[in-house]
Amino acid sequence: MDVYVEKAKCTGCEHCKDVCPVAVFEMKDINGPDVNTDSAPADFQWKGVEDPATFAKWKDVQDGHNHYKEKSVAINGSGCILCQACLIECEGECIVITDDSSTVYHSVYK
Ligand code: SF4
Ligand code: SF4
Repeated sequence: MDVYVEKAKCTGCEHCKDVCPVAVFEMKDINGPDVNTDSAPADFQWKGVEDPATFAKWKDVQDGHNHYKEKSVAINGSGCILCQACLIECEGECIVITDDSSTVYHSVYK
């Protein structure tokens, strides 16, 4: 199992971290050294520029979460049990999971 986050679309909402039963995700400071330490391909690593459409949708939302200060990093992707909880909770629709049969799952916000 492989899990990564498309970083430019990640809002930092922490929903993935909250719902994952096997602690796949950790939140990392957007300016920190380990914000790109999951298996995201180069195009999906954090380069300091937010996805414009996702940012416009979520930047003013006040729901108690720490938007746009941290990014989610799939530090334990190999532990994923494909419960799919994160796939419906991800605001940024930016989680990508590939199972052992090479089937790819993209998050779609509920
Ligand atoms: S699908 Fe995998 S990464 Fe997502 S919440 Fe379930 S175990 Fe965690
Ligand atoms: S649920 Fe999606 S948008 Fe929210 S922190 Fe996790 S990866 Fe980022």
